[in-house]
Amino acid sequence: MKVDFFVHSLSREEYGPLVGQVLESPFLTSGGVGKAVEGQLREFFGAGDALLVNSWTNGAVAVLLALGIGPGDEVIVPAMTFIATANVVELLGARPVFVDVNPETLLMDPEAAAAAITARTRAIIPVHLYGQMCDMRGFAEMLRDRPDIALIEDCAHCFEGTRESEGPGRHSTAAIFSFYATKNVTCGEGGAVITNDADLAARVRQTRLHGMSQGAADRFQRGAYRHWDMAALGVKANLPDLLAALLGPQIATIRQRLPERQALAARYRQAFCGAPIRMQRVLPGCSSAEHVFAIGVNDRDGVIAGLNRREIGVAVNYRAVPTMTYYRERYGYGPESFPVSYQWGEDTLTLPLYPGLSKEQQDWVIASVLEEVAGESRSFPVAARIGADR
Ligand SMILES: *Cc1c(COP(=O)(O)O)cnc(C)c1O
Repeated sequence: MKVDFFVHSLSREEYGPLVGQVLESPFLTSGGVGKAVEGQLREFFGAGDALLVNSWTNGAVAVLLALGIGPGDEVIVPAMTFIATANVVELLGARPVFVDVNPETLLMDPEAAAAAITARTRAIIPVHLYGQMCDMRGFAEMLRDRPDIALIEDCAHCFEGTRESEGPGRHSTAAIFSFYATKNVTCGEGGAVITNDADLAARVRQTRLHGMSQGAADRFQRGAYRHWDMAALGVKANLPDLLAALLGPQIATIRQRLPERQALAARYRQAFCGAPIRMQRVLPGCSSAEHVFAIGVNDRDGVIAGLNRREIGVAVNYRAVPTMTYYRERYGYGPESFPVSYQWGEDTLTLPLYPGLSKEQQDWVIASVLEEVAGESRSFPVAARIGADR
């Protein structure tokens, strides 16, 4: 049975007309549609400001630029995350300081980050890995006497998740989301920044668009041309309305759709407990967004090959960032530098989990994983079994 790793659930019937409406407007780029979505985001998160961007990565660059982070500065990031979390720091000429993650939750703990703070530290970027929120209250408490250190949440995996009933953005300087193709809310490529700091929002409004004083829609809105200025260096990170048009209905329904993801994740958890399979511990009080379902197994690459032979799509989230050639060679890291992240990165693979994954498909994934980890399939012609199953 073929099981794709991911399939989006945006139908042409529902979303086609929304794109069609934008085509009837004079400008296809950032305008009224995006502004409406920003209003939706402010309301969803109870945030003072929300700014759409064209990716998490560019949004983070815009935020770090707005905070004035650059050469000589350090930014603390977890070693277990997607490379973008560290890359944005590196792109600005600052140094990403990696911290190992908690072996049970796979999240960066406030205490671990505290131990990595130096006189050069300008920001900390906790990552809500797989959808489970980090201890943001703990981070905020830890930084109470350090208002010079910005707290930036990487919410690429966690739009609708909560911790102690609080969503992202409550305790941080800014929280950044991704609307990349596989994320829980998606428009193919996109993202958003939320913040309660009005000054920061005003600066990000400029750094997300070259540093210009006004966006295109505002420049032309009054009919008469007005000069614009550039006072700070910015990046090109605004989201066009063509893409923003896809976000409204998803944000409006995301909370109602979470139980489906959580039910799929719960089925995996139950099926795998007792097997030689490691899983992220989700703490009581945490409602995970269940962005991806990652497991840890002994022969990871062997299990991946076995699942691929059974036409099951899998991914790896993630090999530890400091083990990537760029970071290894630049900073001289080895497996011993961040042992928990390294080992999880060697053992982990991610199974299909998305709304629309059928019970039959999930049963097939579960049965296949259990057989692969038991090693039964090594000496058994798997292709024949796939044929029999059909
Ligand atoms: C997807 C992802 C990003 C990058 O998001 P883009 O929108 O593709 O730039 C950053 N951090 C994490 C943890 C991610 O999973």
